[in-house]
Amino acid sequence: MRHALLLFVDGIGLGPDDPAINPFASARTPTLTRLLGRNLTHTDAPIKRDGALLVPIDATLGVDGLPQSATGQTALLTGLNAPQFAGHHITAYPTAQLKDLLTEHNIFAQVRRLGGTTTLANAYTSEYFAAVEAGRLRHAAITFSALSAGVELRDLDDLRAGRAVFHDLTNARLRSWGYDVPEISPQQAGRNLGGITSERHLTVFEFFLTDLAAHRRIPIAAEAVVEMVDALLGGVLDAVDLARTLVLMVSDHGNLEDRRHDVHTRNPVPALLVGFGRESVGSALRSLMDVTPALSGWISEGLRDG
Ligand SMILES: [Zn+2]
Repeated sequence: MRHALLLFVDGIGLGPDDPAINPFASARTPTLTRLLGRNLTHTDAPIKRDGALLVPIDATLGVDGLPQSATGQTALLTGLNAPQFAGHHITAYPTAQLKDLLTEHNIFAQVRRLGGTTTLANAYTSEYFAAVEAGRLRHAAITFSALSAGVELRDLDDLRAGRAVFHDLTNARLRSWGYDVPEISPQQAGRNLGGITSERHLTVFEFFLTDLAAHRRIPIAAEAVVEMVDALLGGVLDAVDLARTLVLMVSDHGNLEDRRHDVHTRNPVPALLVGFGRESVGSALRSLMDVTPALSGWISEGLRDG
């Protein structure tokens, strides 16, 4: 059985290889450096390495203005040009129109229709659902898609048992909010995520502190959050069988890679593919819209081959 992990990292583009501008050029990223032989910064052409492939992909989708999360994530999750449907890039939470696209076409639903198994590895608190119920929070595209496809979300019992990962990786935010959960390293979060990945055809995980840090909405230095991503990826790669597993890290738009301002960028975003199937999936990627068709096609092929 082949496994795929869609590791979604919000708000990271491929920016200049300049430590004064780009924290991906100044942070310590041993995992990325080992995989790519360089840092995760601008490249015109795909970088092919033994075991890894980096493809720069377009996040603007032919629509003017700065790419935004609701439309970018909808394009990623459905394979459709969501900003073109909407007429512009839409920030944060999916609108009714985007929800219709997500409900019908999201990757969780696609994999399920193929007969595959799928999960969202993020942990949720009961307070999160209460806040949504009360109208104080809205589901972002990934959570909305998982729920609409009937994917059961993971809770803090799963998290304590190492069967879920909280969005901040370490559980520090949960602990600061008073929850009794252990603090873990980003590497351990990655190993836990790798364990989850090995049980399903498709696992999705959403990390968005990158975008929050870039918007300066949380007091975490840009380098520190880059190093969290690197450690998470390192932990995942320690835990999965790369002969049977494809790890695909991708983003929805640039932001963190340019510290000169705190808004999104029109830079290409990385599609970083590690492990089995990276060439066949990676060679089909040009923009956000290609991720879901390529990934679900690859999963479908595996299901046919048994
Ligand atoms: Zn943002």
